[in-house]
Amino acid sequence: MALDPAIEVMDKRFYRLVIGNAHIDRLWTGGRWTEGPVYVPASRSLVFSDIPNDRTLRYCELTDSVHVFEQPARNQNGHCLDLEGRVVSCEHRGRAVSRIGHDGRREVLADAHQGHRLNSPNDVVVKSDGSIWFTDPTYGIDSDYEGDAALSEQSGSHVYRIGTPGAPGQRGDITAVVTDMVRPNGLAFSPDESVLYVCDTGISHLGKNCPPDLRSYRLSPDGHSIAGEGSVVATCTEGVFDGFRVDDEGNIWASAGDGVHCLAPDGTLLGKIRIPEVVANVEFGGLKRNRLYICGTTSLYAMYVNARAATRPVPGV
Ligand code: MG
Repeated sequence: MALDPAIEVMDKRFYRLVIGNAHIDRLWTGGRWTEGPVYVPASRSLVFSDIPNDRTLRYCELTDSVHVFEQPARNQNGHCLDLEGRVVSCEHRGRAVSRIGHDGRREVLADAHQGHRLNSPNDVVVKSDGSIWFTDPTYGIDSDYEGDAALSEQSGSHVYRIGTPGAPGQRGDITAVVTDMVRPNGLAFSPDESVLYVCDTGISHLGKNCPPDLRSYRLSPDGHSIAGEGSVVATCTEGVFDGFRVDDEGNIWASAGDGVHCLAPDGTLLGKIRIPEVVANVEFGGLKRNRLYICGTTSLYAMYVNARAATRPVPGV
């Protein structure tokens, strides 16, 4: 079995995570900056953002086609599903985290912290207890390209946790959980949710003074906050880590300047899937959750891999 030439193996453990003869599909092109992919199993589709064009798109696996899902879309960026399978969205222009209710209506879950507007929520993940964790860098207010230019009202760019969101129309309680990063961006939990991974793309503002690190933060025993300081898991060797996903063995599949980098839980670079465009984010999809969807600048790519999305632990077990 010949590996696709786009696959680069750095560590022999990567051979087990890729599939001989599997190849990269370019499913669609025509975006400006694709981001925020979330797989929706019930409709066998992938919802993703095209931020500068202010639209979300939907790729249907059954018809192999892409159509506009929402436009204008408040310059949405990252997405994930909540415990009920509802799509949760980060909105640059809305400066909010919102959710599409079962009735199709938009519910705002958070748009302020301590009475001041958020910067521009970037990426989001839901924990098994229903809490929603998101990053809030300034990329959506730095210029009019990916949102509306504005000054930050916050003390910095932080990671926040929304406690149990209330009934429709009610905001959940929101707390800052990580406050020592420059521009927190992608985030994900380890499979057992004992660790939160967050990458910092602050090189965009601080240059070499902010290396493109992926950091780990251990959660407190109650799982509601972070215990202690973060530590660097890996530093991106090409471009920056932006968005990433964790597979069921704890490996981290991260976007980078030359494609997707697969990192072992200890940060070792196992291998790459080279993509001819800068990659911003990835998501496991398909019915077996073993198809890696890749948002690469103007295009959506996919490749079957021998890994699958981590499933959330069942609370109390
Ligand atoms: Mg991002």
